[in-house]
Amino acid sequence: MDSNEELWQSILSGIELQVSRANFLTWLKNSRLVESHDESILVALPNHFAKEWVQSKYDKMILGAVRNFNTSVKKVEYIVEGGLTKSAVSKQAHRHDINNKQLVIEELKIDPETNLNPRYTLNSFVVGSSNELAYSAASAIIQDVGVKYNPLFIYGGVGLGKTHLIQGIGNEIRSFHKNKIKVKYVTSEKFTNDVVSAIRNRRVEDMKSSYREVDVLIIDDIQFIGGKEKTEEEFFHTFNALYENGKQIIISSDRPPRSLPVLEERLRSRFEGGMIADIGFPDYETRVAIIKTKIQERGTSIDDAIVDLIAKKIQRNIREVEGVLNKLVFYQNNYQKQLNQVQIEKIISDLMDKSRLNVNPNQVIKAVAGFFEIPAGELTGRSRNKEFIEPRQITMYLLREMLSMSYPDIASKIGKRDHTTAIYACKKINGGIQKNPNLSEKLITIKDLVNKSV
Ligand code: ADP
Ligand code: MG
Repeated sequence: MDSNEELWQSILSGIELQVSRANFLTWLKNSRLVESHDESILVALPNHFAKEWVQSKYDKMILGAVRNFNTSVKKVEYIVEGGLTKSAVSKQAHRHDINNKQLVIEELKIDPETNLNPRYTLNSFVVGSSNELAYSAASAIIQDVGVKYNPLFIYGGVGLGKTHLIQGIGNEIRSFHKNKIKVKYVTSEKFTNDVVSAIRNRRVEDMKSSYREVDVLIIDDIQFIGGKEKTEEEFFHTFNALYENGKQIIISSDRPPRSLPVLEERLRSRFEGGMIADIGFPDYETRVAIIKTKIQERGTSIDDAIVDLIAKKIQRNIREVEGVLNKLVFYQNNYQKQLNQVQIEKIISDLMDKSRLNVNPNQVIKAVAGFFEIPAGELTGRSRNKEFIEPRQITMYLLREMLSMSYPDIASKIGKRDHTTAIYACKKINGGIQKNPNLSEKLITIKDLVNKSV
């Protein structure tokens, strides 16, 4: 693999976590990084249609993923990959057709009237101590929409189920009231776009009435609305109009109202006047239950030992569970066998490391030292004491694995002059993992320590 290809694969696996499997396979998997410069990168797509589609739908996401690796990149450019033979082109077009159908089915699932994805139901939402308050508030409003808990404000960290829960309420309200209640789900980004384009096209009144005629307005990720004056203003008026007419408002945010820094005071106090519930990190039992639910949804089965492993490793972001399961199930379906523990750990650590690239070498050194209960200086110093050999090798291995540092850089960080020491250490540990489960256990624990220190 050349370095562009390697880089692009890493970027893609970050994106893979954020889009559906079907969309990923259809639009992104066959892309290629052609060139990367300081401020821009050039990505090739197999045909014009794919280029247009990716550019309009995924540009932001791709740029975000690229910037995780290189913050100086400001722009992603796209080209159609040339040089296809005629038959390849027609094959491509044919494949495209099939893919496109698949996509249409996928997109069709989202109800165009409500914007709700039927995949998110309250039934498939696992309740545990981390989310039971939010869940019971949610359930309480289903029968008496707009009466209790208005607005309902749900906040919590990334990937903890906010979107799932608030869309689940929407779907449940629709079915409980036999579609007689009008529900509208929007992200605050979509709301902002609607406001901006209504102003531009002089259709503000139309926009207002389309929002004000709903019975339940669900706004996701309200934190992105703050600071955009005109949007906030419109939102405030829409909010009041709905609220005064006894309509239900449901809001999600990554933080509580009082911590939304740029939000106008009057809006903040409105939010605080309803019900505020947080979603925290799920405990082990809840994580196991969530994983099992997700496996069932995929119509397959996975050993309990593996469920246990995933639940132990992934503690903070359920979306990462989805990423791991996608890979596991893909593997099982294609190779008709289960992955072993080492392979699964590798999938998990790849996914987790990619989302935490802000680790620095000193954090790794500190974590290794902490784990072995030795002074950090012993890892980087010149001592030849035997008992420090393994901790040192592990340090070098993790610097390579977690930070992709070059061997010379690793050697100098560890106080060695010769970079072959680093190569040897990485080889040694790599070999050890295959034979020695004890060693992989140690590595996983240390990586956890590193990730927790970030
Ligand atoms: P957020 O909006 O808080 O970032 P999402 O609602 O998008 O998080 O959840 C991320 C993924 O985790 C989704 O696939 C969702 O189905 C799943 N998930 C999160 N919490 C739960 C839960 N309690 N039960 C079932 N699935 C969950
Ligand atoms: Mg969300």
